[in-house]
Amino acid sequence: MKYIVVTGGVMSGLGKGITMASIGRILKNRGYKLVPIKIDPYINIDAGTMNPYQHGEVYVLADGAEVDLNLGHYERFTDVELGREHNITTGAVYSAVIDRERRGDYLGQTVQIIPHVTNEIKARIRGVAAKSGADVCLVEVGGTVGDIESMPFLEAVRQMKLEERENDFLFVHVTLVPSTTMHEQKTKPTQHSVKALRELGLQPDIIVCRSKEALKEDVKAKIAMFCNVKKEAVISAADAEDLYAVPLMLEREGIWTYISEKLQLDQPKVDRAWEKMVERRRSCRDKKFFIAIVGKYAELEDSYLSIKEAIKHAATELGYNADTKWIEAEDLEEEKEVCSFFDDVQGILIPGGFGVRGAEGKIKAIEYARENKIPFLGLCFGFQLAVVEVARNVAKLEDANSAELSETLHPVIDLLEEQKEVVEKGGTMRLGDYEVFVRGDTLAKKVYGKKKIVERHRHRYEVNPAFIDQIEREGVVFSGTDRSGTRMEILEISQDKHPFFLATQFHPEFRSRPNRPSPPFKAFLEACIKHPPEK
Ligand code: GLN
Repeated sequence: MKYIVVTGGVMSGLGKGITMASIGRILKNRGYKLVPIKIDPYINIDAGTMNPYQHGEVYVLADGAEVDLNLGHYERFTDVELGREHNITTGAVYSAVIDRERRGDYLGQTVQIIPHVTNEIKARIRGVAAKSGADVCLVEVGGTVGDIESMPFLEAVRQMKLEERENDFLFVHVTLVPSTTMHEQKTKPTQHSVKALRELGLQPDIIVCRSKEALKEDVKAKIAMFCNVKKEAVISAADAEDLYAVPLMLEREGIWTYISEKLQLDQPKVDRAWEKMVERRRSCRDKKFFIAIVGKYAELEDSYLSIKEAIKHAATELGYNADTKWIEAEDLEEEKEVCSFFDDVQGILIPGGFGVRGAEGKIKAIEYARENKIPFLGLCFGFQLAVVEVARNVAKLEDANSAELSETLHPVIDLLEEQKEVVEKGGTMRLGDYEVFVRGDTLAKKVYGKKKIVERHRHRYEVNPAFIDQIEREGVVFSGTDRSGTRMEILEISQDKHPFFLATQFHPEFRSRPNRPSPPFKAFLEACIKHPPEK
């Protein structure tokens, strides 16, 4: 097994995740099998309960793990399906060590960070690597060098480097090279962060420098000298207009040449599909249109990162550049006429969400899309609110609502008995991959082209089976269910009544990939392109 470990210096948010995902893509393009691991030094066991305000979206994996959004980047860039074990947090590591201590497994030893915690970390990394059957294991150590939280992880990878073979282990350090107002690129922050690393016994093999503009040659030389690396190992990673172009940029900078020499990987044939995709994105940059996303954390785009990416994937394939317009749901609540919010968009998307704030604004947006025949896609909470909207305004159950939002005589969205039990037992949500069965002769069937699909889920509430008959009228149908037919998974309005109105209880955005867009996103965008709003 080969290991590439990525650390970060100077500050967070430099794009360490993108750097690692890009290295993954470079390897993947050459046919290597890889496995990415993300280390999150926080004490939370997983990201499930974390506020997206602080950390961007909660990304959901096939096995139902709720993880940091960087794992979304890994899946999108490397197209490897990840699971719970690919995310290692301090919380998970300590809780395993403490459990073992309680069971008496340490036979009365004093349990310490070194070796017990570091051993647990190493065992987890190696376990995941071995199980995956990959050629290369990529490990991102979250946080910034110097953080107290990351210390045990850095110590663990230091030990690993010593234990593994010389040509099997490589450290990549991502830092920042800021520029002065006089465009002078400053290397001091990089020098300091590498110094901090070396004090911990870690010498980076490659330094990836994030900067506004490409690094100047003399700056590279200076970093090489002060940080004890070869000049070829100083890689310039200037701000990129297109995230998906980053692997190509790093390659041009020679990162592959350096990695392949160091890890003794040969250079097999390169698959150019990714490059072509990036080229297509560049060529349709000017064919731009907008999709409205009506959300609650609209001020923080990261909360809907996967949706934004899924829109990009679908648009690229269709030869367009779809951008997103963020609309704060609460702003719609105060307005009588909401049309002014949507006059420059070609479709309306309501993403997942929780709680009452902004919900009525989202329902207003759905009503507007339905009545004005604007292409609409509702996801999870957006699906549930679409059910509420049609229940109120088509089926005339005027006080219809979701039980999550208020008490009502018509809780068209409610907890199923089954789910009540889950909640009582301390479980929370229906998470991860579940099969969905699509009804024949529906829009959903056209969209997916098959009857059995698998998509990722993250929800507590469901369509209340008591109201299905009342809701299904005037072209409104539930066109996808679970195997038993009791859980409603897809809602649509037939295409003789609306150009595109589709909502899903699941989150298709998590399975969208740059070269394999999610079917509902693609169909939604196709409809947006075909039915531009009348001006
Ligand atoms: N709040 C809703 C539920 O719990 C929807 C969740 C979501 O959109 N992810 O079912």
